Amino acid sequence: MKTVFTARRLFTPIEEVDSAFLVTADGRISEIASRSEKDVPSNSRVVDFGDAILTPGFFDIHMHGGAGVDVMRASASEMPVLEKFLVRHGVTGYFPTTVAAPLDATYKALGRLADAIEAAQNNASSDAPRARPLGIHLEGPFLSHKRRGVHPPEFLVEPTLKIFDELWQAARGQVRMMTIAPEIPGAIEVISEAARRGVCVSIGHSDADMPTARHGIAAGARHATHTFNAMRPLDHRHPGILGEVLSDDGITADLIADGIHVSPAVVKIFLRAKGSERAVLITDAISATGMPDGKYQLGPIEVDVKDGKCTANGSLAGSVLTMDSAVRNVTQFSNWSLRDAVRAATFNPARAVGMTGHCGALKPGAPADFAVLSPRGDVLKTIVGGRGF
Ligand SMILES: [Zn+2]
Repeated sequence: MKTVFTARRLFTPIEEVDSAFLVTADGRISEIASRSEKDVPSNSRVVDFGDAILTPGFFDIHMHGGAGVDVMRASASEMPVLEKFLVRHGVTGYFPTTVAAPLDATYKALGRLADAIEAAQNNASSDAPRARPLGIHLEGPFLSHKRRGVHPPEFLVEPTLKIFDELWQAARGQVRMMTIAPEIPGAIEVISEAARRGVCVSIGHSDADMPTARHGIAAGARHATHTFNAMRPLDHRHPGILGEVLSDDGITADLIADGIHVSPAVVKIFLRAKGSERAVLITDAISATGMPDGKYQLGPIEVDVKDGKCTANGSLAGSVLTMDSAVRNVTQFSNWSLRDAVRAATFNPARAVGMTGHCGALKPGAPADFAVLSPRGDVLKTIVGGRGF
């Protein structure tokens, strides 16, 4: 049976459609048009969202947990708790993201995450709508000691093809993204091999100078992880990795727009530098997201959460940011339109990781995964696979 969703506007997000008319059938979008051009097909149900805006569901490519669930430690029965929480914040797709941990624990976690990804692929209709895990982001263990943030130093590893392949095998090929410091010995070879296997290689947790950052990009890196955080700071005479990330129009980059990790003025600088085509929003959210202040786990790391700030031994340890807040923050910190902010949370991450066929854009043939937003960007509803209204 077909369902017709109507609303005041729709962001594809590359284009804006007034008087939106979106038809779904069998969990996919079959048609997008303006209401004035269309008649409601016979035998279809109509759902009118009034003044609201239809946008692709948000896609968070850097996410460690939420609702008390840590993706590295969660059992199969706990993942739905997290995925239903994400849906309430407009997220329909995400990359569960690891942190540096003992390798055997990492391999076990990767196996469980691969199970979750495969189960989501095979089971289109579950009880309540849930965000879909679409691939794994390896944040570590190939990070710089100098810019490790809270990743425990004893679990950082020098990159080798052998260890990369063990991680890949443990994840049964579901690794879609990897953050790596290009300056550490062995990194360039692993960057090339990961890129060859289709992984979005992202430079980050890095103290690289500018030539070394460029070397990493020449080897196949095409993105940067939480720009400014855990990176050598920008110096106007020795611009380093940040100078490269902000000035290279050939790469995309992401940012934690919670107003804590990066000051609002620097968020604005980042958005100007990367523009609406290359800026990507992430949350870097941890299990404490959506929970009261207290102590929470981030993989092997114990994190203190107080007044929305996550720390471990005095360093920032992820966030309690949700993607809908990140989108609203961007419209407040800069002069960006809601459509551009939505683009940085949907199409841009999907394009950065090569998944625009799966998520990030409203178009015929795409999964019917979308968010229903108020004009100021509050999530009114989230539809996954055409369900959830
Ligand atoms: Zn992270």
